[in-house]
Amino acid sequence: MLRFAPSPTGDMHIGNLRVAIFNYIVARQRNEKLLIRIEDTDKQRNIEGKDKEILDILDTFGIKYDQVVYQSGNFHIHEQMAKKLLDSKKAFVCFCTEDEISIEREKAKLEKKPYRYSGKCEYLTSKEVEENIKNKKPFVIRFKKPQKSVKFKDLIKGEFDFEPFEIDSFVILRADLTPTYNFACAIDDMIYDISLVIRGEDHLSNTPKQIALRNALGYEKEIEYAHLPIILNEKGKKMSKRDNASSVKWLLNEGFLPEAISNYLILLGNNFEKEIFTLEEAVEFFDLSKISKAPAKFDIEKLKFLNKEHMKKIDNLSKKFGVNEIYEELLQIFKNESSTLKQIKEKFDKVFEKSTDLEFEKEREIIKKEILENELEESYEEFKKRIQNNTSLKGKNLFMPLRELLINEKHGAEIKDLYDAMKPYLKNIIKER
Ligand code: GLU
Repeated sequence: MLRFAPSPTGDMHIGNLRVAIFNYIVARQRNEKLLIRIEDTDKQRNIEGKDKEILDILDTFGIKYDQVVYQSGNFHIHEQMAKKLLDSKKAFVCFCTEDEISIEREKAKLEKKPYRYSGKCEYLTSKEVEENIKNKKPFVIRFKKPQKSVKFKDLIKGEFDFEPFEIDSFVILRADLTPTYNFACAIDDMIYDISLVIRGEDHLSNTPKQIALRNALGYEKEIEYAHLPIILNEKGKKMSKRDNASSVKWLLNEGFLPEAISNYLILLGNNFEKEIFTLEEAVEFFDLSKISKAPAKFDIEKLKFLNKEHMKKIDNLSKKFGVNEIYEELLQIFKNESSTLKQIKEKFDKVFEKSTDLEFEKEREIIKKEILENELEESYEEFKKRIQNNTSLKGKNLFMPLRELLINEKHGAEIKDLYDAMKPYLKNIIKER
């Protein structure tokens, strides 16, 4: 089984979506199940409703899964496992106060060394522990760092070897007995029989901790790992919440199609013969081990290009926007000159607004009268000739105000195409200009 393990703590980031997509594809390729595990163990950071939002996004993108679980539902197992580690002396009770720890952290910072736990509580006798507990001293449970280094091979990044010092004696149960991320994750990957973990490379240093925990519990199955390179913004910095395009919700609101976003995210850092494809097509040729090790740079222009390509396939825009079918042809014209659904809709909405531009106000009035006074049964050529003859306007002074009367823009689609598409309702529109 593979898993996608989002935290319900904020808007879904494109990096997370990319992780979800790759997990889905590989689960399909390997004929394994996909679990969605909502990592809601950090109560303070959870945001209500974000879990539902994540699941809705997965549905929107056609990412099908077999099961959804909430990590907090496994607290009793996490507690049992912590107890098991305590009993086998692979974990210990730690009474160091938060103040003590932050002083040590500060000290390490000043010495420009990474912070590591001092080991102070590691060798307390059971009597001392009992005494402290009796005196209601708050405590956490720490995992005892392993004796040997932890090695693993990442499917994308290759071999790793982490020294015990790098793993450290880290906290597994907080003072309120809730598990920390590393502990809950290590246990849950074990109990759901996960075969391969695909996640962002920001978790690379967590992997040896999670492997060490399972080793200490005697779990023998080897879980494979693939850590995806981060996505950089246009300035070459890690894409953060401050970059609008990092939010899946923002991209959808901007009118990027889910098909185009997933196409883009699969393409990012890959090199395929084909550039335009659907998620289902990618299942056929995607190869996890061939993803580039280097960080991938987000390029909105490329995404726009792909969006345009995927928009070509939409032939029922009126339905998509919930407007009268009569406007379909006009929407298709706007589609050809837009990169996003939002742009199409903006152009469409503008058609129904009053003209406010003053440059050709006079010319518009002249042409408007001419159009409204006659039947529009003629072809565009005949229509154009009639307007030219009767108004004696020509060139820019004819075409700019005419286009404004049609779509409220001086520049844009061919007037002939607009005329042909809008003929049945043109008078109604022009009347309101
Ligand atoms: N909840 C973690 C995250 O959203 C999951 C990491 C993992 O896949 O283990 O980053």
